[in-house]
Amino acid sequence: MTVTKRKIALVGVGSVGMGCAYSILNQGLTDELALIDVAGDKADGEARDLMDGVTFAPENCKVYHGDYSDCKDAQMVVITAGVAQKPGQTRLELVGVNSKIMRTIVKDVMASGFDGNLVIVSNPVDVLTYVAWEESGLPKNRVIGTGTSLDSTRLRMQLSNKTGVDPHDISAYIVGEHGDSEQPLWSQATIGGKPLMDWIADGDEGVIKKEDLEDIRKNVRDAAYYIIDRKKMTNWGIGLSTARVVRAILEDEHAILPVSAYFNGEYGLNDIFTGIPTIVGENGVERIVEMHITDEEKAGLHKSAAELKEVLDSVRNN
Ligand code: NAD
Repeated sequence: MTVTKRKIALVGVGSVGMGCAYSILNQGLTDELALIDVAGDKADGEARDLMDGVTFAPENCKVYHGDYSDCKDAQMVVITAGVAQKPGQTRLELVGVNSKIMRTIVKDVMASGFDGNLVIVSNPVDVLTYVAWEESGLPKNRVIGTGTSLDSTRLRMQLSNKTGVDPHDISAYIVGEHGDSEQPLWSQATIGGKPLMDWIADGDEGVIKKEDLEDIRKNVRDAAYYIIDRKKMTNWGIGLSTARVVRAILEDEHAILPVSAYFNGEYGLNDIFTGIPTIVGENGVERIVEMHITDEEKAGLHKSAAELKEVLDSVRNN
């Protein structure tokens, strides 16, 4: 029997990086977790702090302040480094500075001899996943952005709040940009297996109406603005969402998750990374699932992809 040691390198130990690290540790997802950051003392302090709690984690884990040489034998590198949104700022406005940071980090990761899966969290995540893929030279399937994982779980919570049904029994996806142009797939949403549109048509206990959908869409789209206005950043939701993607890859789950994946003709889109329900396993993206979405939803997805392409072109031509 071959026992492989699970090893993750995490680049960026700010609020989001530590949200990810805390979730990964608490869920026993890895045997080794190397924390890398230009702020070396911070990475060292965070590693020591987490190690103090390992006794209470479900499994042993070695957390330490690492450097890029630690990426060499890691199954996965998770990148959360970069500048975060300030109140009122959009994710797309971060692209200039964060694409430069992403390129330097990915260069260093690849120079180590890394040959695993790259998971990108930094914003604007769809554009930066493309930049990371381009810079890494890795196959498209092995570079994955967290995409609309967080937005989709926010959508499930909103539907749960409205209907009173456990969010685990709700399947619902946001696709496209992790940002202002994102598109909900109402036609594919199900609650306990029953399509959301049937709940609305049947007037099930009067719990959810067609008019509610626009409010739900806005609440999901603007959730980060709401949180940033109050606590200056978001970290716990994205930490848990990232851990979900990490688990699907390390445990070869073939889970369907709305990650940022490369399009090769699916839904009529090409040469772009954006959020879409995707089968995720040890090879990263196994494949994008093509759903029978409505023309309106498809138009929303295309509009979102066109906006991302424009931003991507602005940093590729620089
Ligand atoms: P933060 O400022 O708290 O932390 C950023 C960290 O990156 C810092 O520790 C900094 O030292 C490090 N860093 C900067 N340049 C670096 C470099 N060249 N090499 C190594 N480390 C470097 O920011 P945050 O709140 O943790 O946010 C991080 C990123 O995550 C932002 O881009 C933010 O928008 C994004 N984010 C993404 C999602 C999502 O759903 N994908 C959700 C929330 C936040």
